[in-house]
Amino acid sequence: MKQSTSSNFKDEFDLILEEINLQTKTQNDSFTWTLTETQKGSHKIVLCSYAYTINKQTKAQCELHKNCTGRAVSDGLHPPLTHSQKHNHQTDIERMQILKCKEEVRQQAINTNDQPRTIMVNILKAISITTVSALSKHDAMRQLINRTRIKKFSIKKFTASSIAEIEIPNELRFIYRDDEFYWDDSGKDDKNRVILFTTKDNLSFLNDHQDWYADRTFDISPTFFKQIYIVHVIKNGSLNPCVYATLPTKTKHL
Ligand SMILES: [Zn+2]
Repeated sequence: MKQSTSSNFKDEFDLILEEINLQTKTQNDSFTWTLTETQKGSHKIVLCSYAYTINKQTKAQCELHKNCTGRAVSDGLHPPLTHSQKHNHQTDIERMQILKCKEEVRQQAINTNDQPRTIMVNILKAISITTVSALSKHDAMRQLINRTRIKKFSIKKFTASSIAEIEIPNELRFIYRDDEFYWDDSGKDDKNRVILFTTKDNLSFLNDHQDWYADRTFDISPTFFKQIYIVHVIKNGSLNPCVYATLPTKTKHL
């Protein structure tokens, strides 16, 4: 009796498997296939509400592989993904939604110049409340956006060997909404080169407020620069950074 129940179960699963594979082969759209990149640079595929990690041989194993023998085979990082061994657990819709959201966040970080807050608002309004609460560690989301952008822009290796050779990449000369951010540069010929970063909006914000606070930091200075000088506006008790200057010395004189 027990035997027949389990073999019925197997038949049923095989049918489901077949159905899933049929769907996968015919619908290679984003609904059935989401390719995500993990923090460590490997890939994950979300398909039919299961998530797989991909190994070098493009064999996909259930992300819960320590506890689950679910497997699939993909055509590299492209659809289709064919299920080959069954999972021993139910799908976790919420987990899938989180993975898809994170991928969407990454895509928007790469393809837009929107502020992290705008990206988060866009993503969060399209998903369920439970997923929102799982994703609501805003600092983690912000970090994900920033990490993705840093990775995107650092494809070109930093090769400057002196302060004169420093070149601000085009992508970083503008900030959100394409406002100019790389504001002033004393020039490559200046051995005490100073670079100023601010925006038109920030300058008018400075202009409109009397309370300024200037601050120096040495820890985050880029190579060849000794300090970063920051001018803040104090508004409602909080500091709003408006101008950043990279300075080649530690003196207090600008
Ligand atoms: Zn599994």
